[in-house]
Amino acid sequence: MANEAISRRAAAVTPSATVAITERAKALRAQGESVIGFGAGEPDFPTPDHVVAAARAAVIDAVNHRYSATAGLLELREAVAAKTKRDSGYDVGAEQVLVTNGGKQAIYEICQALLDPGDEVLLPAPYWVTYPEVVALAGARTVALATGEDSGFRVTVDQLEAARTPHTKLLIFTSPSNPTGVVYPADEVAAVGRWAAHHGIWVLTDEMYEHLVYEGASAPSMPVLVPELAERCVVVNAVSKTYAMTGWRVGWSIAPVEVTRAATRIQTHLSTNVANVSQRAAIAALAGGLDDVAAMRSAFDRRRRALVAALRAIPGVSCVEPLGAFYAFPSLHALLGRRLGERSADTTLELAALVLEEARVAFVPGEAFGAPGYARFSFALADDDLAEGMRRLADLVGAGA
Ligand code: PLP
Repeated sequence: MANEAISRRAAAVTPSATVAITERAKALRAQGESVIGFGAGEPDFPTPDHVVAAARAAVIDAVNHRYSATAGLLELREAVAAKTKRDSGYDVGAEQVLVTNGGKQAIYEICQALLDPGDEVLLPAPYWVTYPEVVALAGARTVALATGEDSGFRVTVDQLEAARTPHTKLLIFTSPSNPTGVVYPADEVAAVGRWAAHHGIWVLTDEMYEHLVYEGASAPSMPVLVPELAERCVVVNAVSKTYAMTGWRVGWSIAPVEVTRAATRIQTHLSTNVANVSQRAAIAALAGGLDDVAAMRSAFDRRRRALVAALRAIPGVSCVEPLGAFYAFPSLHALLGRRLGERSADTTLELAALVLEEARVAFVPGEAFGAPGYARFSFALADDDLAEGMRRLADLVGAGA
């Protein structure tokens, strides 16, 4: 098709680099190659049995074969409100909840509901790949705020204040973070929330990884620490990461009622309701408590420690301790411009391609997250694969055991 057929809006969308590297690794595997993938953005565990059982029951019940309320089954919206109270101590009503196709659709619709052309959105970098694209699709402008290893990849109120203009409408805040695994301590979350409330700036707080925290870290919800922010705060969450349910596509936003109504109007014309069977599965997941995630968390923690130790053992590589999610975000600056195997790489983008070709190890280059020189390594993979992948990387860079 001729390129000129494509709208400027669609042409401007950068394809997700995380998906791209996963696809390339899959293609190599399909050719019979043994590829170790550190690219995964999802738990490698199956969805808990009781959740699958609820879905089985739902699929044979004809009531689930029809359209249902766009905003979500009332039972699920109530379960989300109850879960939010249980896990975060945040009192919300079911009428504030919009059930979406994963957290991703919630972020898209909230940006469509809140942002106008000319609005600015503050986004701490490194950031998750989808945010700037969604902001651009809403016609607004992302103002990325660089953070580095020195500040533990955490944005400061001073940085936010320096970037604030009369056009600043929204801050996107993610803790635990994809891609860095960083968890903001409660006092810093509160300081950011108070700053936003004081200046009348909206906050979208993405709590997708709230339960995947390690070494005693906790991820408090910003509107709980700063109640006066609640009138300008949107919480986004999903069953995706907590219950190993990425493929079921159930997420939600919790917002002031007017915003939820506006986002629901958009969804009416986009996807209508989320698949009822998936919604019934999500109800079972939320009602089932947190035992399954506790088991996943201890496996992730073991792999987290192994991965960070192996990365830090490579001369010149440093890695901020990830206390949440399932990602480490090492600095690979020391590997750039060096001979590795037959070649060398000047950027982490080139390095990721080189390491995939030469060592059959996949990771996502920092460029995808607004942080060249770094890379995202997921630890959502089997212990043996993790060890083998790090052995291959160490061998390639000449630090092999
Ligand atoms: N937010 C963050 C920070 C994520 O890492 C992801 C998935 O990778 C999402 C949102 C989207 O999750 P979902 O699969 O529920 O759409």
